[in-house]
Amino acid sequence: MKYRYLFGPVPSRRLGLSLGVDLVPHKTCTLDCIYCECGETTNLTVTRKEYVPVKDVIAELEHYLASKPDLDYITFSGSGEPTLHSGLGAVIDYIKDNYPEYKVCLLTNGTLFTDPAVRKGVLRTDLIVPSLDSACSDAFNRINRPAKNLNCSEIIEALITLRHEYKGLMIMEVLIVPGINDTPQELKLLKEALEKIEPDLVQVGTLDRPGTEEWVKTAPKERLQEIADYLGNAELIGAFKPEHKVSSIKSLQSNRILNTLRRRPCTVSDLQQALNLRPAEIQKYLNLLQSRGAIEAEKRERGTFFKAKATTPPTEEN
Ligand code: SF4
Repeated sequence: MKYRYLFGPVPSRRLGLSLGVDLVPHKTCTLDCIYCECGETTNLTVTRKEYVPVKDVIAELEHYLASKPDLDYITFSGSGEPTLHSGLGAVIDYIKDNYPEYKVCLLTNGTLFTDPAVRKGVLRTDLIVPSLDSACSDAFNRINRPAKNLNCSEIIEALITLRHEYKGLMIMEVLIVPGINDTPQELKLLKEALEKIEPDLVQVGTLDRPGTEEWVKTAPKERLQEIADYLGNAELIGAFKPEHKVSSIKSLQSNRILNTLRRRPCTVSDLQQALNLRPAEIQKYLNLLQSRGAIEAEKRERGTFFKAKATTPPTEEN
């Protein structure tokens, strides 16, 4: 079968081995970022519709996944903004209903999360990576060159709302464009916004390949590290090799479980409901945490409860 909507799998520096799903034609986006590696946005729009037939995307997924390939993630990304496709939620549901063994990731610019239907459609993903380069409309307009009516404050509010509704992992991505979003005032506003959004992690990067505009400069690594340190809970995007990136995500998952158990003792089923993870996966992290002496189990009438020990060692994955 010749695939039109699937690409890869590619070893991704964030995700490990990732099968890409591209739901919109090149280059359909709500933004026209000056650093975009896919080139200039030729269809700048906020109109959601079925850009490519959902049934054809599902037929390709069915064919590809029939051989049970070894993948870390199935990732919605590509040469445009995936949330513009009105059937994104239906494709996510198809994967989760039929292939629950695969994790699903969404790379998005986050601009359409102002629409409750978009937020609802992505709740079953395991990982959402929204980008946010600025919390100030002037820099947002200069870097991201949005479609009409997109407002940076509303997008930040929508990300805060999504964080409350969504139980999976959220990693915010910030791309630094020297001279625009790296001033002290810009970074202060961005830090405040990120603190309100409360992602699991912030990743800071800079252009490392040719972008749309030749004048866009690369930020030096030392400066990126300073910015990551200032923003807090942040690391550099290129800091990990692919295999380490997966470990980093695993580490975030075990931290989420440990943090939940710090608040109250839970059964596997409680954790499943709270964190949107599969029981087998939860058990794997519980075993890991138990082997490190971070949690303990106690049998009660409703089942086995797990609770964090009073002093818990760090949960970093090796
Ligand atoms: S949001 Fe992503 S795809 Fe759209 S223009 Fe920006 S970098 Fe390119």
